Order: sequence, then C-alpha cells, then structure tokens
Amino acid sequence: MAEIRSIQWFPGHMTKTRRMITANLSLVDAVVEILDARIPVSSRNPEMDRLTGGKPRLLILNKSDMADERTTQQWLHRLRRSGCAAVAMDCKSGKGVKQFHPALRELLKEQIAQWRAKGLVNRPIHVMVVGIPNVGKSSFINKMAGGKRAKVEDRPGVTRTKQWVKLGDGVEMLDTPGVLWPKFDDQQAAQRLAFTGAINDDVLDIEALAMLLLEYLHEAYPQALTARYKINLPEGTEGRILLEELGRKRGMLVSGGEVNTERAAITLLDEFRSGKLGRITLEVPENEGA
Ligand code: GDP
Repeated sequence: MAEIRSIQWFPGHMTKTRRMITANLSLVDAVVEILDARIPVSSRNPEMDRLTGGKPRLLILNKSDMADERTTQQWLHRLRRSGCAAVAMDCKSGKGVKQFHPALRELLKEQIAQWRAKGLVNRPIHVMVVGIPNVGKSSFINKMAGGKRAKVEDRPGVTRTKQWVKLGDGVEMLDTPGVLWPKFDDQQAAQRLAFTGAINDDVLDIEALAMLLLEYLHEAYPQALTARYKINLPEGTEGRILLEELGRKRGMLVSGGEVNTERAAITLLDEFRSGKLGRITLEVPENEGA
C-alpha cells in the first residue's frame, strides 16, 4: 500500500460561515446539502446534523455524471431507506435538476399541509444551500435559477446583503450558499477529497496521492486503467509500480530512461478529475456508513 504524509488542511475562515449558517437557518424551511456523488461520505460535513438543528434536509448527489451510475443508485436507495430525502443530479449539464421541486415538496409535505390548513396557500418555501468547497453549490443555484436570477426585495428583518432568488414553483433560495468544511481530520476522507480535487494541490504530495488512487482504481476499476493507459498488471500491484507503468505507457521518460513520475501523477489526477477515466465512485455503500 502506498503511503502518504498526513494531509493538513485547516480552513480557518470557515468559523465565519458556520455562524452565517446558524443565523440563516431561522429564515429557511429546509436545507439543501450538496454532496459529491463520487464521495457521498467524505463530502458530507460531520457537523451538519448539529448545525442544521433538525431542519428538514434534502441531499443532492451532485456530479453524478462522473460517478458510477450503479453505485449512485445504491447510495440513493441506502440514503432513502435510512429516512433521508436524496436525489442525484448533474448541475453542469442540468441533468436531473427537475427532480428538485417534487423532492422538496415531498420532504415538506406535512409542513405544506399545515400552512394550507391555516389558509397560507401561497406561502413560499424558503431554502438555503450548503456544501463543502467545489461541490457545485453555485452551479446548482445558477441551474435552478436559470438565466433569470430574479431577486426578491429585501424583507424586514433580513439584512440588506441577504438576497432571495426565486426558483419558480413557489420556492425562494438564499443566493449565498453556506460553505462547510469537509472531514479534514479523517485521513482517508482527506485523501478521497484530494483525489476529486476538493483540496488544493499545493498542500499535497502529488505522487503519493496518485499512487494511492492507482491502487484503488486497479482494484475497483481495473478496466478503466487498461482502457486509458493499457495497464495490465497483476492484482495487488503496488502504486509505485502502477505509476511507473502509466508513465512508461505514455512515454514520460527522462534522460537515462527513467519515468518522470511527477508528470505521470499529474496526468492521472487531471484525467481522473476531468472524467477521462470514465464514471468512477470512490465510496460504496457496502463498506461505508451512510
Ligand atoms: P462551489 O464551490 O460549491 O460553488 O462549486 P461550483 O459550482 O463553483 O463548481 C465547482 C466545479 O465543479 C466547477 O468547475 C463546476 O463546473 C463543476 N461542477 C459543478 N457541478 C458539476 C456536475 O454536476 N458535474 C460536473 N462534471 N462538474 C460539475
């Protein structure tokens, strides 16, 4: 197993957004938490349950275009079975975004019935979006709001900077998403976040990271490595050997015939992150707690 020095990542500025989230919670009926479908566990903020104080929550497995379709279905099944409202989508192309409104209405159906009983027929539903950096919060807001991004006038008691975006179907969303920190104290989660590009590469040992990713891919998606890099090595081959093989197959040699492993590592990570290796999920429900 390849080794990696521990990933240190302490986003200090997030204390401010934590306060912002808590303050905004009183203004909304539900929280939309965006997760990365490739890492539904590691992209989930560990403090989310406490922070949202039991507000109804809709989980969105975003970037599902890059995740293994079958595993995403397994995740949805698992999450729904454990009582979580969850839908999968691709906020880049917009695929699946139509599921948002019905899923939100289903989540809040008792609340909506209570409003109706009180005669509040046209009461808008207020939501806020939260998620870790880069998970697709802005893409989601833009896709949902369409080109319009029509702003609702400031309400009494709501600070001037707080703006609501009308999403149609009686839903209004705070236009500033809550940025939450990921599980940076869990090394395995940090590695998976790093694979997807959620952690800035400046703080990472790129070659060690690429070796770990190769070991995972070689075990879980060997056909992806064969198809892209013509890697055909026995099961259990070490990450260093896999990385050298990748570099060799791509002709990344330095004088003396050695492989430029740094270039090979950068290539692998770039190609994985841009989906060139195909649809790959790094966390499967059988092995993970949801
Ligand atoms: P934020 O930091 O959470 O607001 O994330 P952004 O909305 O800025 O998205 C981060 C990156 O992920 C951008 O390059 C987006 O184009 C990309 N992205 C967002 N959603 C998706 C998606 O569903 N699929 C793919 N392939 N890329 C996405």
